[in-house]
Amino acid sequence: MEEFDLVVRDGWVATASEVFAADVGVRDGVITAIAKGLLRAKREINASERWVLPGGIDSHCHVEQLSGMGIMCVDDFYSATVAAAFGGTTTIIPFAAQHREMKIPDVVADYAKRAREKAVIDYGFHLILANPDETALNIDLPAVIREGITSLKVYMTYDKLRLDDHQLLDVLAVAASEQALVMVHAENHDIIRWLANRLLARGHKAPKFHAVAHDPIAEGEATNRAIALSRLIGVPLLIVHVSAREAIETIRNAKQRGAAVYAETCPQYLFLTADDLDRNGLEGAMYCCSPPPRDKDSQDAVWAGLKDGTLPIFSSDHAPYRFDKTGKLPKGDATTFKEMANGLPGIELRMPLLFSEGVMAGRLSLQEFVALTSTNHASMYGLTGRKGAITIGADADFAVWNPNREVTVTASMLHDNTGYTPYEGRKLKGWPEIVVSRGRVVVENNTLHAERGSGQFLKRGTSDALSSPEGISVAEAREALRGLVDVGMEDERSQTSLRPRRSPTRPTLTCR
Ligand SMILES: [Zn+2]
Repeated sequence: MEEFDLVVRDGWVATASEVFAADVGVRDGVITAIAKGLLRAKREINASERWVLPGGIDSHCHVEQLSGMGIMCVDDFYSATVAAAFGGTTTIIPFAAQHREMKIPDVVADYAKRAREKAVIDYGFHLILANPDETALNIDLPAVIREGITSLKVYMTYDKLRLDDHQLLDVLAVAASEQALVMVHAENHDIIRWLANRLLARGHKAPKFHAVAHDPIAEGEATNRAIALSRLIGVPLLIVHVSAREAIETIRNAKQRGAAVYAETCPQYLFLTADDLDRNGLEGAMYCCSPPPRDKDSQDAVWAGLKDGTLPIFSSDHAPYRFDKTGKLPKGDATTFKEMANGLPGIELRMPLLFSEGVMAGRLSLQEFVALTSTNHASMYGLTGRKGAITIGADADFAVWNPNREVTVTASMLHDNTGYTPYEGRKLKGWPEIVVSRGRVVVENNTLHAERGSGQFLKRGTSDALSSPEGISVAEAREALRGLVDVGMEDERSQTSLRPRRSPTRPTLTCR
């Protein structure tokens, strides 16, 4: 009997810290050997002149979710996970989204059922919390965190989702005592509302005014306020989809003063600008998301933030809506920028875009790419040791990339249901040709080989940002916390639910 079910032979293997030539051996869905000259296996993949990288983790994507405006996105757990897999991603963490009138246990059960029936790769959930009432704070949140939904997303804007500062403090305090990570959409609601009302009153309805209403100052102010609230409670915070230079500099400054703040960015802030919203007719609606794409200066700041650890997480924020009445244009040609669904597709192209423009264009090392698209997500969201690294004992999730394959992006080659891509016509270098999830070859020869419903729910552990013995949560935060919340931040997380990890591979997450 062969020692391995699968061996990937003669490739260059990359982790967040090293690149080396080796074979990777897999048995029972787990990586069991990394060495040269492994014995034969039932299934062999020749990876010579290929790069073997950890499967991507997309920790921000909206799947089969009703938006705050009440519009259903067009990808379900099947189409979204298929698209993710074709783009080299083997784990997604979408949202179980509460709307204010919904009970949290019902929300979680509903998303869990739909994902279980359809997902082709592994998945977890973050909880979107829209109504932090007493039941939510005291009963429901502790319960879902124990079930492995160890991160919560809250909004500072959108009429139907936003929390005020008092509510944000309540949620941060529960996160501290229950060891959950809070993710925040940081934009100042009243600035946006005030600008939008003035623009509409003057007849400015076109998509490009979306970018005017969502001024970078609104993002910078809310980012600073969210950090202040998290410092008061003394709990780490993650700012999602950071787009503008002002917010990035605010985060960098706070980190330099010792705040335990982490941040995420997305492809649209590297590869699009507000000019894309100013296209013929209503075509700019295809580029509307919040925060909106900014300008060249902010793109440069995002690249710098990816490089220096200010933005350790690169997600898609996949939020797919069709360019028709079901999504972007609910009122047809009369749709104003306030009425169009917010969000862009990106779950499939997230990794190829950053690979091409980051690694192949010389802006990022291969290790940095691995950290930004995979390893740091595992660390941030309680999957260390299991996902996000090619290491003994981890799930056999990886992709075999051909660094020389050239691809011209068109919507018709993609596997999501959006019907367009904001990156149409872009020439990319490098592509994930073979994708492996828990030892199963799920994509090969541009064909899917995974069954609907074969993905598994990931009961996640505590974020390394909360539990790391390496000092991610700083002394100042601990001091503040002692007075407010009854919890021992220094206690190391029990690792019992996770497999051991071989080497530390999260350089960019350490507080600098
Ligand atoms: Zn989002």
